[in-house]
Amino acid sequence: MLFVLVFIVTAYLDQWFSARTRFGTVNDLLRVGFWRSILFYPTLAFSGAIGCLLLEAWFLGWKRSALRRLILMETASSRTDLFYFWFNLSGLKNVFVLVLGLGAGNAFYSWTHNHFNLGLLSHVSSTALCFLLVCLINTFTFYIAHRFFHEYLWEVHKVHHTAEELNIITPHRNHPFEHVFTMLINAMPSAILGAPTDVLMIYITGNAVYQQLVHSSLDWKLPGIWGNILEYVFITPQAHRIHHSSHAGHYEKNFGSLALWDILFGTFQHPAHVQVTRIGLPMEKRLNRDKHFNDMWLTYAQQIRILFQRAKRTFKPAPEQAATRKRRDAA
Ligand SMILES: [Zn+2]
Ligand SMILES: [Zn+2]
Repeated sequence: MLFVLVFIVTAYLDQWFSARTRFGTVNDLLRVGFWRSILFYPTLAFSGAIGCLLLEAWFLGWKRSALRRLILMETASSRTDLFYFWFNLSGLKNVFVLVLGLGAGNAFYSWTHNHFNLGLLSHVSSTALCFLLVCLINTFTFYIAHRFFHEYLWEVHKVHHTAEELNIITPHRNHPFEHVFTMLINAMPSAILGAPTDVLMIYITGNAVYQQLVHSSLDWKLPGIWGNILEYVFITPQAHRIHHSSHAGHYEKNFGSLALWDILFGTFQHPAHVQVTRIGLPMEKRLNRDKHFNDMWLTYAQQIRILFQRAKRTFKPAPEQAATRKRRDAA
């Protein structure tokens, strides 16, 4: 009970602080009023998650539901999911994003919104067209960011992939250092487009619910031709499960929140052709061991080390270039 109380109080305090400081948060993006911004995120995220958990339990039954797994907290994976859910909603994540990213993500995000807003979407008069464009552009940015995380930030992105079961709240299971880059990647498109607040609110709310249901144990399949078509438009839970599969060849598939981008860039894997037998990364058990803050720090240190090594290799001159430079220096 005390835990729930602390959770609620810190969540609202964080929003109060973010709304006052305008430090590169979702409130900044939505440019909503003071009180509305305080009430918006924690209420939406918490009630949205509860709604999705109840919906899944309704269709699957209590025994197979994520609600049961999260209440009983039997596995380290479900406890890690709960930790990141609290970490995200309580606002503590914002502090870590600020510190681990040395304020770069927040500063760039705030700067683009305050000083660089082309507002291209304000010229689109149709709300439906505006919404469609927001969906297409944001899902495209999500796809690019996700590919980037796999290529350059795998150490921290692993935190999401080490979930050994998908629990509706698993979308919250992300390392704060990953979020620094999400801010950097998302800042420019939203500053250039400047979508109307209401359209953005609908998109953010819809996407949050969609992301949670994609991490459910439900299988979406409408009957008939429409069912087949929609599997090539949206990433369904069964398609996203392939992305979380333990099989090494699987987690480089189905990156998007829309299947469209995966099809276009050759990373789509249709769920009908693949059997997912296990979720998670069996070699990375260490990230499910109830030492969340410790693991968060170790993963961060390892990621920074890898980034530096990679940068060193990239900027190191080729042997032939180095020899020419040596001869030139000697001359
Ligand atoms: Zn991934
Ligand atoms: Zn996922």
